[in-house]
Amino acid sequence: MTIEFELPESIVNQTGMTKMLAEQVMRSISRRYDESEHDRPWEYINVIWPFIQQIESADLKRSMARNGSANGSFNGSKNGSGHDDAPAAEKKKPSTGNLRMVHMIEALSWGDAGIYLSTPASALGGAAIHAVGTPDQKKRFLERFTQGEPKWGAMAMTEPQAGSDTSNIKTTAALDPETNEWILNGEKIFVTNGSLAGKESDGLIVVWATLDRSAGRAGMRPFVVESGTPGMTITKLEEKMGIRASDTAAIVFTDCRIPFDNILGNPELVDPDEAGAKGFKGAMKTFDASRPYVAASAVGIARAAFEFTRDTLADQGIKIPECAPLHQLSAIQRDLLQMEVDLKAAWLLTIRSVALLDAGESNNLEASMAKVKAGHVVTTITQKCVELLGPLGYSHDFLVEKWMRDAKINDIFEGTGQINTLIVARRILGYTRNELK
Ligand SMILES: Cc1cc2nc3c(=O)[nH]c(=O)nc-3n(C[C@H](O)[C@H](O)[C@H](O)COP(=O)(O)OP(=O)(O)OC[C@H]3O[C@@H](n4cnc5c(N)ncnc54)[C@H](O)[C@@H]3O)c2cc1C
Repeated sequence: MTIEFELPESIVNQTGMTKMLAEQVMRSISRRYDESEHDRPWEYINVIWPFIQQIESADLKRSMARNGSANGSFNGSKNGSGHDDAPAAEKKKPSTGNLRMVHMIEALSWGDAGIYLSTPASALGGAAIHAVGTPDQKKRFLERFTQGEPKWGAMAMTEPQAGSDTSNIKTTAALDPETNEWILNGEKIFVTNGSLAGKESDGLIVVWATLDRSAGRAGMRPFVVESGTPGMTITKLEEKMGIRASDTAAIVFTDCRIPFDNILGNPELVDPDEAGAKGFKGAMKTFDASRPYVAASAVGIARAAFEFTRDTLADQGIKIPECAPLHQLSAIQRDLLQMEVDLKAAWLLTIRSVALLDAGESNNLEASMAKVKAGHVVTTITQKCVELLGPLGYSHDFLVEKWMRDAKINDIFEGTGQINTLIVARRILGYTRNELK
């Protein structure tokens, strides 16, 4: 496929507005919400919410029209137009939804990655609903994000014993035939926006649970739990190293009853490798689509640190001379050049992975490549910036030390660097999940 590097005017304009928001609103409150970890940045939430409603509304329309996945969704992810149920003509239709989203996310994360993650949106929960929900479920669960007060969605997969190995989840879902309700029992940890989605009105959490542990991945299904449902308890708010403005919660489900229709996809147990197993495949598709978004966020943080360092050093007289041969450059100048190269490489991989998504093509390999590269680049660049700036980099007076702390999560969630490297290796070498673990 070909990639168009010229951006449509609407994306250029939207990115410009996003950059203004990042600079004028997010940067000015960045340190405050880093320090007061569990406060919510309403200055940002109230400004961004009207834009999010428009994006959610467009996503929902596209998703309903295709009876399947939508394009880019804020702070979460949606697959491109390549859903199995979509008519052939729709599958071919070019889209720029995900391209638009990575530009916005990069700019917002340049402002503050933790505050960006606090954006009211259906997020990963919405992504799962778009990927595997029926048209009725999409309308029922997602229309709320297009109107009213700010609200949040979340997705809870991780458990104390099940992180990278998602097939090891223990949270159970059992059907009560008398009331026709599902009963959820188990514990979820590290749920982004978990307390906002679980407690604030009209929020929702997509919870992955097993119908039959002996069935492994085939037994896993996503369930929508509405905010405030009895039996769902927020047990802990994480105190974190970075992205401290982002809400991260642990949640316990104790005989938590939800309506039968809140199971997303097919309630029958089916082999996950068969075409009918939309539930688990939907989760994997969700991750393929969300990884470029994490990569974009990583690039935004890395660019923030790089630009600050480059400009500060320039003020001190350390500039990169134009057209100078490599051997005439100082070590610091070469470091700056290397950072710029890495930043561009990570961004180009990110753009490629969303271009495929927008074209409705598989991006499993490219999404993991972008995630691995950007996760590595953001941790090394921010660390290098602290090093090059010396006391300025380590001081609380500037944000560089914060960006270094914010960076690491991009190498952890949505699949760690190691796990995404495994996915890349499997894809390139042609091994299955069982052949290369
Ligand atoms: C701030 C934050 C927000 C999060 N948000 C969410 C969320 O919204 N929803 C959600 O469900 N989860 C969320 N998570 C959980 C996150 O996805 C997991 O932490 C991640 O998948 C890693 O799982 P783990 O922490 O259990 O590490 P483990 O799986 O225990 O891994 C530990 C280490 O071993 C390595 N490792 C594991 N298996 C292999 C292997 N086969 N080969 C090589 N190395 C391996 C890993 O790369 C890692 O370095 C969040 C986590 C954090 C920290």
